[in-house]
Amino acid sequence: NIKKHFPLKSEKLFTKEKPLLKAVDGISLSVRSGETLGLVGESGCGKSTAGRMALKLLEPTEGEIWFKGENITNYRGEQLRKLRREMQIIFQDPYASLNPRKTIEQTLAEPLKIFGMPKGQVTQRIDYLLDVVGLSSYHKQRYPHEFSGGQRQRIGIARALALEPELVICDEPVSALDVSIQAQVINLMEELQAEFNLTYIFIAHDLSVVHHISDRVAVMYLGKIVELGDAGEVYSNPKHPYTQALLSAVPETNPHREKERIILKGDLPSPANPPAGCKFHTRCPFAEDICRVQEPELKLVSTGGQMAACHFAKEVVTEGNFT
Ligand code: SF4
Ligand code: MG
Repeated sequence: NIKKHFPLKSEKLFTKEKPLLKAVDGISLSVRSGETLGLVGESGCGKSTAGRMALKLLEPTEGEIWFKGENITNYRGEQLRKLRREMQIIFQDPYASLNPRKTIEQTLAEPLKIFGMPKGQVTQRIDYLLDVVGLSSYHKQRYPHEFSGGQRQRIGIARALALEPELVICDEPVSALDVSIQAQVINLMEELQAEFNLTYIFIAHDLSVVHHISDRVAVMYLGKIVELGDAGEVYSNPKHPYTQALLSAVPETNPHREKERIILKGDLPSPANPPAGCKFHTRCPFAEDICRVQEPELKLVSTGGQMAACHFAKEVVTEGNFT
C-alpha cells in the first residue's frame, strides 16, 4: 500500500489543506523471483515513482517496501548500501545517465571499486560485462558520445549488472531507441535474465513493448493500479476499459483479425487534480453515474488471479490473495 505524495505550492494563501500531487496513491505489488513484471501506463501515471520507491531511491510517504522477506522501508546508511548490490536500475535515456567525461571503462569500474573489488579483477570483470552485453572490450577507452543509442543502452545494462543484482528495475529502457533497435535490446535483456536469474520490473508506456518479456502485467492510471494479472490473461482478455483502450491501439499482427480501436476522450487529467470517483471516468467510454462519485476497488475478476478496478468488471470470489 505505498503512496508518494509530493507537496504542491498552494495558490490560496489561507488554506489549511496543503495541496498534494498524489503521484502514487496506494498500490500493492509483489514481484516473484525470476519473473518479469511489466508496469505500464501513460507518462505521469506514477510508474517510475513506484519503481524508484521499490529501490529505495525515493522514500514512500506511506506504506512498506519488502525485499526477500525483510521490511526495508526504514533502511538507511550501511544497510541500504548493502542492498544496492542486489537492486539496480536501468534508465530510459542511457545518454543522460552515463557521465560524458568518463570512458566506458571508468564508468563500469566505479561500482566495482566502491564495493571493494581488487584492482586486478576489475579489468577482467569489465571485459566480461561488455562481452555479455554484446560489446567489444576493444572500445572501452571510448566516451559515451562515441556510441550509438543502442550501444549506450547496452553499456547502461552492463553497469546495472556489474554487481550481480537480483532485482533490476528497467525504467523504459527502450523508449528512447529506434524501433529496429528496441527488439535487439529486449532480446538481450531476456537472455541476460535467463543467464543470471534476474528479476525484472519492466516499466513502459506501451503495452506492446512489454508483451513478450512480461510474465505478469500491472496497468497504472493516475497513481493507481487499474488492472493486474498474468500477461497472457491481460492481453487476451483485458477487463478494465483503460487496458482495453491501450490494447486496441497496439497494431494487430494477424491480418485476419479485425480489431476495433477504442479512442479515449480528452487528455490525461493532471495528477495534481484528479477526477473524483473512478479517476478514469472523464475518458471512459462506459462511464455511468456511479463512476463519478465512487472509486472502484481493485478486485479479483478471474480465477487465474486477474484483478481490475472497475465497477462493471465482474468479481470472482475465491480463497487466496493474488497481489
Ligand atoms: Fe469506466 Fe466506470 Fe469502470 Fe471507471 S468504473 S473504468 S469510469 S466503467
Ligand atoms: Mg517515467
